[in-house]
Parts: sequence; C-alpha cells; structure tokens
Amino acid sequence: MKIAIDPGHNCLCSNGKHDIGASGYAQEDDLTLELGKLISKKLESLKHTTINCLPSTAYSVGHSLASRVNKANKANADIFVSLHFNALNGRAYGSEIFALSQAGAAIAKPILQNIVALGYTNRGIKQGGFYVLRHTSMPAILIECAFVDNKKDMAIYDAEKMAEAIVSGLVGELPQTVDSKPGTLKVLQKTYLKPSTKQSSQIPNQQLRTIIPAEYAIADLVGEEEGHYLIRMADNSQHFIYSGHAVVEVN
Ligand SMILES: [Zn+2]
Repeated sequence: MKIAIDPGHNCLCSNGKHDIGASGYAQEDDLTLELGKLISKKLESLKHTTINCLPSTAYSVGHSLASRVNKANKANADIFVSLHFNALNGRAYGSEIFALSQAGAAIAKPILQNIVALGYTNRGIKQGGFYVLRHTSMPAILIECAFVDNKKDMAIYDAEKMAEAIVSGLVGELPQTVDSKPGTLKVLQKTYLKPSTKQSSQIPNQQLRTIIPAEYAIADLVGEEEGHYLIRMADNSQHFIYSGHAVVEVN
C-alpha cells in the first residue's frame, strides 16, 4: 500500500506566522514529527510505500496544508494519515480519530482500538471538517493521539508503542524485531502485566492486566529492568512483569 503520512503542524512559515501546534507537557509538533518517522520506518520495513507530506518550506499555514494534500494526491496514495495531539484545559484526556468518509472511519476503527489498548480513553471516531480530510482524494484520517496538556496521557505516552498501534491498525502487522528472543513466561503466582516497573498500587487499574499462574508463549524477552521482565506477547503488546512472580525461559 501507499500511505501518506502527515506530521501535523511543524510549520515555520516565511510570513512569520508559525504553527507549532498544541503545548503542554510536550510540544505537539515535536511529537508528530517523531511519530511520523517511526510509523514510516515500520511501514517501509513491511514493504509499504510512504509519502512524507510535510513540506520543507511554506509561506503560510494555509500553504503548508495545501502542500501536504497536494503531495498525497499527486502520489496517488491509498490512505492519508494526519498525526496530531490534542490540548484543552489539562483535564481532558484520551484518543480520537476524525474521518469524513465511511472508508476513513473503517480504517480508523482498528487503529483507535489499538491505541485504547495502550491505556488511553476512547473518545471515539468523529466527523471533523479538517482541511486535510476535505481536500485529500483518498480515504483520510486525522488521529488525535492523546492530550499533550494532560498529565496522565503524557505519563503513558511512548512514541514507539503509539507507532506500533497505528501501523498494526493500518496494515494488520508489525515488523519483526531483528533480534527477538521468543520463549516461555512461567507465572508462579497471580500477578499483573503492567505498563511500567511501578508498583501495581501506583498504576491505574485499567492499565493493569491480571495474569494467573500458567505457562505462556512470549514473542520476545525485550529486556530486564528494576526487578522486572519486559516481555512482548504474541499480539505484539508489551508488558512489564515482576520477576519475583515469574520466570522467563528463552527458547
Ligand atoms: Zn494538531
């Protein structure tokens, strides 16, 4: 597939009116730029073609937006993916995807599911009259990954995981890690799969996954840190598990 990637904002316009997006615990356009690169790299390694829609120069925000759309339309991309982060009042949180066409909404659905599985609140698939959605000639989506001004959203934000969620939602697979170490996870007592090495009592309940004593096949022992194993399961989700409650045997 040919996928157009649009890292939102990142517009230092020659008319002096810059567009750097939303601000908070992080700067939106730093995040979209990093995320766009990660997504493109993963898609390319899965043999998809990517179009980087970010223009190198623009004289205005409007010109920048038109250039992005023109790049995608000219390249005849199959899908247009615009990357954004939200901001409101610090108290709003979660992920949402905008699409105008039914085809766009269908593309958005598995991506949003994957993002929500990372611990973000599902704000739904919405209609939104964004310029890039109205003027692209292929199914287009605009992802508001998370809120940059929300402490909780930014605490769990991980560019690599967000890129994986978007890529696997788009194309149904992820590149294999070159040096993955598949093996067996032997859980010795009822415990939690966690998004970090923090104690389970310090992690919101919805981010914890209970796991009962048994043997589980794992796709990769990604690493070990602070008394925890970091494992990747067959569904490509990554979790920490306290090494006092489990043993990992690499094949
Ligand atoms: Zn934005």
